[in-house]
Amino acid sequence: MASSQAIDLVPIGHGSNIVFVDDLDAVVILINLRGRSKTAEVATAAAGEPWHDFVEWTLYNQLYGLENLALIPGTVGAAPIQNIGAYGVELDEFVENVSVIDTETLEESSIPASDCGFAYRQSRFQKEKKLLVTGLSLRLKQTPDPQLCYPGLKDRLAMDKLSETPVNIFETVCRIRAEKLPDPARLPNVGSFFKNPVVTATRAENLQLRFHGLPVYPPGSDTDRVKLSAAWLIDQAGLKLARVGGFEVSEQHALVIVNLGGGRKADLLALIKQVQTQVHHRFGVDLEPEPGFLPIN
Ligand SMILES: Cc1cc2nc3c(=O)[nH]c(=O)nc-3n(C[C@H](O)[C@H](O)[C@H](O)COP(=O)(O)OP(=O)(O)OC[C@H]3O[C@@H](n4cnc5c(N)ncnc54)[C@H](O)[C@@H]3O)c2cc1C
Repeated sequence: MASSQAIDLVPIGHGSNIVFVDDLDAVVILINLRGRSKTAEVATAAAGEPWHDFVEWTLYNQLYGLENLALIPGTVGAAPIQNIGAYGVELDEFVENVSVIDTETLEESSIPASDCGFAYRQSRFQKEKKLLVTGLSLRLKQTPDPQLCYPGLKDRLAMDKLSETPVNIFETVCRIRAEKLPDPARLPNVGSFFKNPVVTATRAENLQLRFHGLPVYPPGSDTDRVKLSAAWLIDQAGLKLARVGGFEVSEQHALVIVNLGGGRKADLLALIKQVQTQVHHRFGVDLEPEPGFLPIN
């Protein structure tokens, strides 16, 4: 492995959360480490395992907890990088440890969850680029513990007359995602383009008094604060179908920016700015992009 001081190393899983805005002067490492194992409550997978297959495998092995995180694109190794989450569940709730290799010293180690710096869409790995994730161990549950705080999920189960079993939750999450999100294979996108803004509960209440219907989600690991729906803010600012060059705010889901073809870097940056400016102007709330950009500057 090359020294990262001499040359940049960029690990890539499935590339589903990266926006390539220019040519990249770096060594790209495609993570393809494979293998899964389990003990009574701990499921472990190598970094190159596809995330969704791992979720399905844990369910098959009657280890519960990951069903709300079904169908998130990408690899197991990338999951802790931005601490993936969906439908009221965040990865860090389950992390036992993250196995890494330091690309400068070639030392291997296992980092316990408490040292991973997890927060909403955050971890220490986003800053410590020299740490390459090689595997992930999750402590799961042997008895089902349905997490249905996300109203859309609970309502959909009720509408489809399904009991709240892990398999039904898994399948319902897959169904909702397939209906709601534009398929990146057909219309290139990186999923949510902006993070849900995290604010104090008091600020959220004040905003809800002024803007009726603003959805507020319960906190993940950050218990003092709440998340505002970025999709709602963008939609209410009238930005669905806003377009600059080849990039457009998806009509299907306001949080997604799609590349209609031929989009240039300047177009994307202009559209991001337009969304941020209009949402700030209307609600006084700042939106921060979720995906990583390469090259970084
Ligand atoms: C349609 C769609 C829906 C999505 N929905 C969600 C969602 O609901 N919730 C959510 O949280 N995310 C979501 N995402 C984002 C994405 O799925 C996740 O961020 C996923 O973890 C990315 O996996 P990947 O293997 O594609 O990572 P990549 O895009 O390849 O990499 C992402 C970042 O992680 C780094 N990285 C990758 N592998 C490693 C490694 N082994 N060691 C160190 N660094 C590494 C890369 O350098 C890069 O900075 C969605 C994306 C799409 C396209």
